[in-house]
Amino acid sequence: MAREHGEGEAHRKLAEAELAVYPPDYYRKPCVYEEDRRYAVLVIDMLNDFVTGSLKCERAIPMVPNIRELLDAARSSGVPVMYLNDSHRPTDFELNRWSPHAMRGTPGAEVIPELKPRAADHVVPKTTYSGFYATDLDDILRSLHGKQGANTLILTGLHTDCCVRHTAADAFFRGYEVVVAEDGVQAFSEPQHRVGLQYVQYWYLADVLPIKTVIKRL
Ligand code: ZN
Repeated sequence: MAREHGEGEAHRKLAEAELAVYPPDYYRKPCVYEEDRRYAVLVIDMLNDFVTGSLKCERAIPMVPNIRELLDAARSSGVPVMYLNDSHRPTDFELNRWSPHAMRGTPGAEVIPELKPRAADHVVPKTTYSGFYATDLDDILRSLHGKQGANTLILTGLHTDCCVRHTAADAFFRGYEVVVAEDGVQAFSEPQHRVGLQYVQYWYLADVLPIKTVIKRL
């Protein structure tokens, strides 16, 4: 269950400490491409079914304006925007775990209206948690930035402890560094969200930053 905590820095730190599963002293921030950051922004499963539909997560609604601000900033800085969208067929194995959601061709599988992709954005359909699994994502990322390829991926969307986490894993396996937008990802509960953030920082050379800070780096 999500727990309510008070406002303010002291309460935030207390909440973090209570949920500390992975030791923060062992986190390592992205460092490999420090001299030549080539970003891409990934928007994961911000679809009608994930936000307001069959797998709805009301905790995602307040972050929508943050993601929109990030996407506007990315587009005006020439940073590519990619949408990784569940697009399920009835035979997809994942549907043995989850009830039907984001079924291909249905309104539930469309990006929420507030974050609708623009013509220049890339839309990548996927059939399970990772945006890299059985998709063209890696090829597209390597074709960006004048074919030099993106090397640092900014992750937003749903869920911190599932598709964000699995996409971060596949990014790490392929030599990308990762920044997770702290106020641009969410999960079904605060503990799931927090532990998801901890997990990627511990294992995947990932940073977790507020969107305002991310925008300054674009
Ligand atoms: Zn799915």
